[in-house]
Amino acid sequence: MLIFNHETLGQRVLFGSGKAAENLAAEVARLGAKRVMVIASEFEAPIARKVAAGIDVALDYDDVAPHVPIEKAEKARAAAQEHGIDLLVCVGGGSTTGLAKAIAMTTGLPIVAVPTTYAGSEATNVWGLTEAARKTTGTDNKVLPATVVYDAELTLSLPAELSVASGLNALAHCVDSMWGPRADPINQALAAEGIRALNAGLPAVKLDPQGLPGREQALYGAYLAAVSFASAGSGMHHKICHVLGGSWNMPHAQTHATVLPYVLAFNAPEAPDAAARIATAFGSDDAVQGLNNLRTVLDAPRALKDYGFTEDNIPEAVELILPVIPDSNPRKPTAENLADLLRAATAGATPGL
Ligand code: NAD
Repeated sequence: MLIFNHETLGQRVLFGSGKAAENLAAEVARLGAKRVMVIASEFEAPIARKVAAGIDVALDYDDVAPHVPIEKAEKARAAAQEHGIDLLVCVGGGSTTGLAKAIAMTTGLPIVAVPTTYAGSEATNVWGLTEAARKTTGTDNKVLPATVVYDAELTLSLPAELSVASGLNALAHCVDSMWGPRADPINQALAAEGIRALNAGLPAVKLDPQGLPGREQALYGAYLAAVSFASAGSGMHHKICHVLGGSWNMPHAQTHATVLPYVLAFNAPEAPDAAARIATAFGSDDAVQGLNNLRTVLDAPRALKDYGFTEDNIPEAVELILPVIPDSNPRKPTAENLADLLRAATAGATPGL
């Protein structure tokens, strides 16, 4: 029997290399905006200047910081109010999109997002704020950008190593969408196409970071990854990475890249349909082998011990992770099998063996 409840988030997506400035100007006119605030960090500002060349900008704003500290959010909200802003345009990675979302959350202002990484925040209704070193997240349709303008040319300056890490993070969104708490056939179909696109795009980006075809596939895959993940919700992989990141201050992208194949190897035998779809998306006979092949080509991070996590941390990690793994997980996690998974990921043993 096929029974599911699915919500599709309403958003315009304008995709085209070299078209960001033209698409943004058309969107600003369509929305009838008169007072635009352009948000971009100091490093992203040169990209933002090119993208916003065809519009009148009422306020350029660059006070962006990772994980949206609440003081920065309040300062940006006050600036938007003071300048009578009627449209937010964010040009940058997830941190910059996050600040625009924080403003939209309290003001209801619409956002046009122009992403320059593969984080995917632009396609979700999830916000995040950090107060006293604690990050809080939630969902609110007010923070979903009205329009996303994708232009792969804007990602050419993203260094190859950061591109690979960001792309593997997107791949983790796809894989976890196969068994997240609200996984359904629609988000699984989007996730499978996301895996196919990222598997095609990321090796091309690694080989030729200045080539557009690989960048386009990676950006398209990253969008599908975010849409499927926003719909399916956090699965086992994201729960593990959240605990490791929060409790041991592990680097975000590297932790995702290292843990993913172990979670896939853990769940695949109990989720044959998802495993078969993932394998097909990788163009491989086997899901874990397909992911291992991609990680070899990308020279992806391999062991948690390389990022400061040790075997001694495993009992505490198991205690924190076990209660938060969703019931939807295909294989029942236990203290023993979770410890085995973490031991293999800490050492960097070949996933699936
Ligand atoms: P980021 O936005 O912090 O950017 C990383 C670095 O890359 C920054 O120094 C930035 O200036 C630089 N950069 C961005 N684009 C560049 C480009 N094209 N060329 C050169 N440098 C560039 O990192 P991120 O990985 O994009 O986003 C991570 C943040 O987004 C985290 O806070 C994460 O929690 C959040 N996030 C939120 C959601 C959501 O749905 N709310 C989804 C994914 C990520």
